[in-house]
Amino acid sequence: MTAYLVGAGPGDPGLLTARALELIAQADVILHDRLIPADALAHAREDAEIVDVGKVGGGEQTPQEETTRLLVEHAREGRTVVRLKGGDPFVFGRGGEEAAALREAGCPFEVVPGVTAGVAAAAYAGIPVTHRGLASAVAFVTGHEDPDKPETAIDWAALAAFPGTLVFYMGVRQLPRIAEQLAAHGRDRGEPAAIVERGTLPEQRTVRTTLGALGEADASAPAVTIVGPVAGLHDDLAWFAPGPLAGISVAVTRARAQASGLAAKLRALGAEVIEAPAIRIDPLEAELPDLRDYDLLVLTSPNGVEELLRHVRDARALAGPTIAVIGPGTAAALRAHGVEADVVPSRAVGEGLVEALAGRTFSRALVARAEEARDVVPDALRAAGAYVDVVALYRTVAEPLPERERERALGADWATFTSASSVRNFHAAAGTLDGPLLASIGPVTSAALRELGHEPDLEAADHTPDGLVAALVASGAGRG
Ligand code: SAH
Repeated sequence: MTAYLVGAGPGDPGLLTARALELIAQADVILHDRLIPADALAHAREDAEIVDVGKVGGGEQTPQEETTRLLVEHAREGRTVVRLKGGDPFVFGRGGEEAAALREAGCPFEVVPGVTAGVAAAAYAGIPVTHRGLASAVAFVTGHEDPDKPETAIDWAALAAFPGTLVFYMGVRQLPRIAEQLAAHGRDRGEPAAIVERGTLPEQRTVRTTLGALGEADASAPAVTIVGPVAGLHDDLAWFAPGPLAGISVAVTRARAQASGLAAKLRALGAEVIEAPAIRIDPLEAELPDLRDYDLLVLTSPNGVEELLRHVRDARALAGPTIAVIGPGTAAALRAHGVEADVVPSRAVGEGLVEALAGRTFSRALVARAEEARDVVPDALRAAGAYVDVVALYRTVAEPLPERERERALGADWATFTSASSVRNFHAAAGTLDGPLLASIGPVTSAALRELGHEPDLEAADHTPDGLVAALVASGAGRG
């Protein structure tokens, strides 16, 4: 089958090409770099094999030979394999070597260009790499090599004399030596320069300086460095605003299966997200009674909605009973399946639902929920004369928290809690809640925090994940 060498762009998910998304959705195997846009793999097939070949920090980076070997092997075995690389695959991406290995192995391949960081990060910083009257040529240069080594492959004299913009990829730590070499070979020390860190991402940062002062700039990878008069246009043309949560780190403690939506929203606003799931949702093999036998169906969580609908084979069964949910989050989960709840209390707690149902009479109610849920609603319904069945559709179980995640989560600026069980389980796994500021989705979650002796630093007014994100933004947590 064909192997695809695909560029994923510089980070902004909007800069993935249509062809890249199409191939990601088809692939049997995806071998991806570490620096790819968040959610780039969201539409990969569920059964696709996804390999992070760029792991650093958490694991070893896969050596290039191993990546190439995997690529060729999967292609030979007849799989559709996508090699997803940051930026453009043929610009400092070793895509050429991978293509050569595929050609040698007789595997057909296709190259899908991507938006390269040197152009995109510059553009997002308001720097056109060419500009009438200022630069009629642009050079992409690796900053990876130590310019002081005699075996350097870069001709510094030629680069210094290059009549146009120089864009350096990689090597932010080499900047003092790069600047020195260029100046020593005659490039003007006063020439404008800019370093664009994490370009196109919500936390993008630009350092505007000059060639002479490049060495003192405080910058960290990934960044591109632009040397040339066009760098000065940043002062007038900068347009990209950092996200409101730029510069803050947020730990997400909810179950991994549900965390991605919340994590993606936080990332889109500029936050650094640390996934530290404290719980896992285990579906129970429940026997769901016939919904048509009830005049009230109560759903007390978005998970309850998902689990219930897994059991419902014929949507018409939902047409009979009045449907009451615990709050807007559960209503939204239901709406996503095309079902509008009849009763949605504004206060997303059992007591709120009891109030919202007061004054109405039901003869048979079914409460579908988590095994460990509170009995406020069934008790109140029974007290009001209804016959109540409770069916537990899932169980929330503790997830172990590896030491690295524990440390990162406790070191975060904020920890977010979207349920009482995530509070209790995170506390049990981490041994403490000391460290981050604590953000709670609503009163029940806040009560769980107080039980452990912690006053929440923030409680969402709207008890949904979106409400929690909005509250974080409103708290002015970020520097944006
Ligand atoms: N093939 C990639 C480059 C890979 S080399 C491309 O075409 O963009 C990795 C280097 O790319 C980083 O060290 C950094 O210099 C640059 N880079 C990648 N993503 C970046 C980003 N979002 N902002 C700034 N520079 C980035």
